[in-house]
Amino acid sequence: MEVHKFMRMLTNRQLFQQYIAQTSDSPIGLEIEKAEGIYLYSADGKKYIDLISGISVSNTGHRHPCVIKAIREQLDLYLHLMVYGEYIQSPQVRLATRLAELLPSNLSNTYFVNSGSEAVEGALKLAKRFTGRKEIVAFHNAYHGGTHGSLSVMGDETLKIPFYPLLPGITHIKINKTEGLDTITDQTACVIIEPIQGEAGVISSTTEFLAALRKRCTETGALLIFDEIQSGFGRTGKLFAFQKYNIIPDIILLAKGMGGGLPIGAFISSKEIMSSLSHDPILGHISTFGGNPVCCAASLANLEVIIAEKLSESVEAKSNILREMLAGLPGVADYRSAGLLIAVELDSFESVKKVICQAMENGIITDWFLFNSKSIRIAPPLIISDDEIRFACQVIADSIKAVMSYKS
Ligand code: PMP
Repeated sequence: MEVHKFMRMLTNRQLFQQYIAQTSDSPIGLEIEKAEGIYLYSADGKKYIDLISGISVSNTGHRHPCVIKAIREQLDLYLHLMVYGEYIQSPQVRLATRLAELLPSNLSNTYFVNSGSEAVEGALKLAKRFTGRKEIVAFHNAYHGGTHGSLSVMGDETLKIPFYPLLPGITHIKINKTEGLDTITDQTACVIIEPIQGEAGVISSTTEFLAALRKRCTETGALLIFDEIQSGFGRTGKLFAFQKYNIIPDIILLAKGMGGGLPIGAFISSKEIMSSLSHDPILGHISTFGGNPVCCAASLANLEVIIAEKLSESVEAKSNILREMLAGLPGVADYRSAGLLIAVELDSFESVKKVICQAMENGIITDWFLFNSKSIRIAPPLIISDDEIRFACQVIADSIKAVMSYKS
């Protein structure tokens, strides 16, 4: 009883540090009371522009009215009914049908899951099961998630070594280097690639490389998996990044921006490939919450907003404003973008941290990348207006100027 009384005297920050499992020694630790559109409102009364979108999640902004309406309507009907794939649930059916309308005919069969990592797990299993092969090819500096399978295809050793042994039979090759494609053989079940590497600091594949990769996969019978968990749902200027390249994968992975703020992911392939999960053994992938009806209702509304508000069509022009205002600044060593997924490279992680802190002090939230410590990450909600971009860029530019001139 005494302990409970003591706990109630602690601040939320103290309780956060004590009772929420921490995975970093320096969490941002901002206490948010409300989020709306591109804005976050903190408990101490400050208003921030969110230039990160919860890491490429809130593409339609926070609490888009259409998403909220769809969630409310579904709340009045039913929540969870049954483990994935048993009952006919109309939010799942309508979402899968809409995705099939928007995707090429070989990407018409959807398995809904709870997260990006689970989409990766499902796809790797599907490729092994369909091809009967055991080997997997992945890429250096790739990020695919935090579970054992997705960690195994991750292309950075530092985050993996403490968790060995991971999956066997995985080879990593370099993006945009066609020499490595010989590694893909008739023993390869699948090749998994982010067409635009996010955590590596926005490294885009070239069209030539993806065309050569597609050709090699077709020749050898290896399935080509595009991880569009970060690049999907309009972020790079098309609904999906593969549409920029005109190259069609055998399996596409979605999550993050899919749910309009609710947790949902998917792996999508052809009916023929996907059917291999339904026999020998049956239940080739099982998920209790995959395709939760509230998440599916939110996801469909979110997708319709992206299409109706032509959000992907406006991405290029918005991206250009950011480039004009930030790319040429003194102290900016490199600038990479794929639509509204942007990396501003400075000279060191120290500078990056200082700029992020200073921008945050002044109401602008940016972030860093897992595998590219010298770059600041910018990934605003796609609904951000041109004027809001200009305002936010000015704050970032001032922060870069202050930090970099202090250093020189
Ligand atoms: N793939 C990519 C490309 C990602 O960016 C992420 C998340 N950052 C994941 C997979 C894993 O998604 P989740 O965190 O939802 O498991």
